[in-house]
Amino acid sequence: MAPIRHPADRFLSPRFDWVDGVTDPRLNRRTFLQLSGVSSAALALGVAAPIGALASAEADGAQLPDGVFGLGVASGDPGTGSVVLWTRLAPEPLAPDGHGGMPPRPVPVRYEVATDESFRQVVRRGAAVASPELAHSVHPQVDGLDPGREYFYRFHAGRQVSPTGRTKTLPAGPDATFRFATASCQAWYHGHFTAYRHLVQEELDAVVFLGDYIYEYGITAANLWRAGAAVTPEHGVEIQTLEQFRLRYSLFKTDPHLQAAHAAAPWFVTWDDHEVQNNYGADGSRYGVLPEHFVHLRAVGYRAFYENLPVSLSTLPEGPDSTVYRRSGDGELVRFHVLDTRQYRDPLPVDTADQNREDRSILGAEQETWLYDGLAGSTAAWNVIANGVTVAAITTNRTDQWDGYPANRRRLLDAMRTTSNPVVLTGDIHKHVAAELKADFTDPASATVGVELICTSIASDGDGAPTDAYTPDWVRHPYVRLYDGRRGYVHVTLTRDAMTSEFKIVPWVEADADAPLATVARFVTPAGAPGLERLA
Ligand code: FE
Ligand code: CA
Repeated sequence: MAPIRHPADRFLSPRFDWVDGVTDPRLNRRTFLQLSGVSSAALALGVAAPIGALASAEADGAQLPDGVFGLGVASGDPGTGSVVLWTRLAPEPLAPDGHGGMPPRPVPVRYEVATDESFRQVVRRGAAVASPELAHSVHPQVDGLDPGREYFYRFHAGRQVSPTGRTKTLPAGPDATFRFATASCQAWYHGHFTAYRHLVQEELDAVVFLGDYIYEYGITAANLWRAGAAVTPEHGVEIQTLEQFRLRYSLFKTDPHLQAAHAAAPWFVTWDDHEVQNNYGADGSRYGVLPEHFVHLRAVGYRAFYENLPVSLSTLPEGPDSTVYRRSGDGELVRFHVLDTRQYRDPLPVDTADQNREDRSILGAEQETWLYDGLAGSTAAWNVIANGVTVAAITTNRTDQWDGYPANRRRLLDAMRTTSNPVVLTGDIHKHVAAELKADFTDPASATVGVELICTSIASDGDGAPTDAYTPDWVRHPYVRLYDGRRGYVHVTLTRDAMTSEFKIVPWVEADADAPLATVARFVTPAGAPGLERLA
């Protein structure tokens, strides 16, 4: 079925249609950042609106269809004093045009932030306009919060009130205990999000999502392994358009455990390949899409990513470019360095000499400099690097991962030697792997300079098994300390003195969401002594 055109998509011409009003010179990000207070740009971009102007909005919002908060609420990018709030209005999340059943007009949304769940102690109120150009999403940033503190938030649109979300700012001092989980690869059609059902019980300080929030493939009888699920034909085609990307995010977000996980803690989110197309790099498609067409796919993929996730305005795409690498946390316990290992990478190597070229980069020169400067300048006890693909040396054939960029890996490992307690978090491979990162991977006896915690998928590849055909490639390395091919998440506890990492699994995801949670391995990493001591 061809997507139905929505009136707000009138600017969507075949070329340069990613921009709608947003790259209008009056409305783009650069202009916005030069403005102070609430401007027309802030209104258009869904980050702020004058509360006084919203009195008439109540009457306006009264005309809305019921159930506008059908995609839930979320928060993200917490700092020691700030957090980004998110919602996207969609009374009919699966409307085929991707607009979620919203009328094609801007809708004012109010929000409030409180220190208690019953909103007796409201500490911040604000407003933002949900515009059809951004699929009725809003991304207000709340500042002036206390560090290391729990907050509750909710939105109002017309007379409708959203579910309540819980969020938390990062701790400022070094003596806190900070607990987070990592997740990645949530192919909704391959299984239930059982891992999130367990994750929401953890009362976490944060969730770090490491890529493949959606998959672009058509959903058909062949890959729909989630028992009890059914989809209509518009989900059966591989994604090409902004409407289809929006609809795909909506479909995945209809999962109640995913919505609960967003409402339970602030998320740091980065992407991997499937937010655009399998195994792409920069403007290069693995499927023969010409670069001049591929940038269009990238633009609409990046656009839908922004619309659907609790990321700050700095990530708003300009055409096919979007700044996803960023840092958070000026506190003394932990700093997060979020990487983008897709947008700036060099193409696949043509031969071994090319693969080993000194100037090859998976991050791109600018992001490399930014990362090494940020690691060197960090005063935090723990430096957590949220990264898409495997850093540890596994096999030189895996050129989609850091194995395809050995010179860049050497530069990263060199930077880690002078970094306070670097920890790399990784997704992508759909397996749990714990690895020690060596100063020189050609010499396994060389010093360990950091650790890499690779989390398995939430659902991608279905049930999985403890071992599989890929196990030998990984466990032959002495620095690989764990391999498990089942679904789940990684739970991490940081204190000034140590990091504890626990690899959690659920034994099945295809049949139902009832599987229990188990811990397959627990490691401790003492501060100042990189490595993985296995506790259980
Ligand atoms: Fe994946
Ligand atoms: Ca991937």
